[in-house]
Order: sequence, then structure tokens, then C-alpha cells
Amino acid sequence: MRAWRRGHSGSAGFVPTMGYLHEGHLALVRRSCEENLHTVVSIFVNPAQFGPGEDFERYPRDEVRDLELLRECGVDAVYLPSAAEMYPHGYQTVVDVQRVARPLEGSARPGHFRGVTTVVLKLLNAVEPDRAYFGRKDAQQLRVVQRMVRDLDMAVEVVPCEIVREPDGLAMSSRNVYLSPEQRAAAPVLYRALCAARESYSAGERDANALRGLVGDLIYPTPGAEIEYISLADDRELDEIEGVITRPALLSLVVRFGQTRLLDNVELG
Ligand code: AMP
Repeated sequence: MRAWRRGHSGSAGFVPTMGYLHEGHLALVRRSCEENLHTVVSIFVNPAQFGPGEDFERYPRDEVRDLELLRECGVDAVYLPSAAEMYPHGYQTVVDVQRVARPLEGSARPGHFRGVTTVVLKLLNAVEPDRAYFGRKDAQQLRVVQRMVRDLDMAVEVVPCEIVREPDGLAMSSRNVYLSPEQRAAAPVLYRALCAARESYSAGERDANALRGLVGDLIYPTPGAEIEYISLADDRELDEIEGVITRPALLSLVVRFGQTRLLDNVELG
């Protein structure tokens, strides 16, 4: 990968993914193609960011289709390392972002962000891009990566990209294929609830509990939906807000349908 990069001068954009690509991924890829001379995409289902009992083995994969989609987008190179190349025998180094990686997904999935930041650092070292593109869908991941890049003085610009949604509002995700037809039909309630809270915020509501409650009340009656968390947190450090919202905030949630965890969020202010 590095030899390829050294042989291609000029700006490079990089989109790290776990494959099974959808329009959300491709929006990042297209933006990178617009903003850089070269675009590199990686496909790596990173075992280090999955916990025991999570869906690493059954995570959806379709390399042939992914490569075809990336070819159509005009991507210059696709990096497909194996787990053995990334974590050879004797491997023992990790990147551990502290505070911003602790709440929310960090607490629901212990070790998850350590796996993410470690692999993102390794991928960035291999690709040496000028810009790296991350979706706002994984809002905490974006903040954790931004923190790592600042703290470790990394020479890359992190470019946040808007969430791409299905026509009914469901945020696109490789994991949406796990949903049964009934679960898929019910899933848009997440974004509807987040939008209702955002409207209430725009109309002047500043009580964090009232907004979390509004989201919960809309989702709770949905058959099959199990709320894992609803968070209204400070937009930077992701400290949960108790009482009155005075600064930009992130309203995020995880709702489980059966085994499938769906994430979504909106920014307030
Ligand atoms: P993943 O393959 O799930 O690791 O995602 C790779 C990148 O695509 C991450 O930066 C995600 O945040 C981003 N991404 C995934 N789904 C979406 C979406 N619906 N809209 C925007 N970005 C997304």
C-alpha cells in the first residue's frame, strides 16, 4: 500500500470501511474523489473492534460487489489487508483515547474504540492520505478519531460527512440487512423520534430530560424495539447533559431490534 502511495504524488483522500458498501459509504468516496487527485478505500472487517459474542463472524461481506461499486466511482486503489497482516504474531500495541471514548458506545462495547483507533492509525500510516473521510452516522467514532489525530499530531485532515438515509429516514448501515421485514418497517421510528426532538429544541425546549423523554416516549411503544440508550450530551466531550442545554449538543441513541443494534443521531444547536 505504501509503495503504491509513494508512486502516486498529489493529494490523496482515504475512506476506511468494513465493506458491504451502500450509498452512505459511496457518498464519502465520491466526496473524496471530488476533493483529491487520488482516492484510496480500505475494506477491512477489523476483529479488534468486535467484542466477544458480537457479530464479527456473521458481519455481511461481498468483496466482488464492493470492488465493482468502487470501480464505478473511479477509486484509484482499494486496500484489503488480511487480519494476519494487520495483527501478525507478536502484535502488542494499541491506541487508547481516553475521555471521549468512555461513554455511550465505549461503555456499551468495552474495547471497541481501542480497536477502531488502533486500526485507523495503522491504515492511515499505510495510506498516508492528506484527507480521511468519516460519516457522522458514527458520531462518537468521528469525535474519537478527531481526538486521536489532534493528540498524536497526525498529518491528516479528518473530513466529517453527513448521514445518508433511506427514503423513509432510516440511516443506511451494512447491518440493516439483518432486519426482518417487520423490523425494517418499524426502524424509521428512530429518525422520526430524533426529528421530533430536534423540532422541539428548535421551538425553544432546552430541558435535556424532556428531550430524552420525548424520544423515548415515541420509540417505546414500537413492537420489537428495545431502547439501549438515549443520550443528550455535550457535542465535544460527550458528557451527558443534566438540566438545561446551553451549548451545542449531540442527541444519539441505540435501539435494538432482536440482535441488531441500530445507531442514529442528530446534532442540536
Ligand atoms: P463502516 O463500514 O460501517 O465501518 O463505515 C465506514 C464509514 O462509512 C464510517 O466513517 C461510517 O461513519 C460511514 N458511514 C456508514 N454509514 C453511513 C451513512 N448512512 N451515512 C454516512 N456515512 C456512513
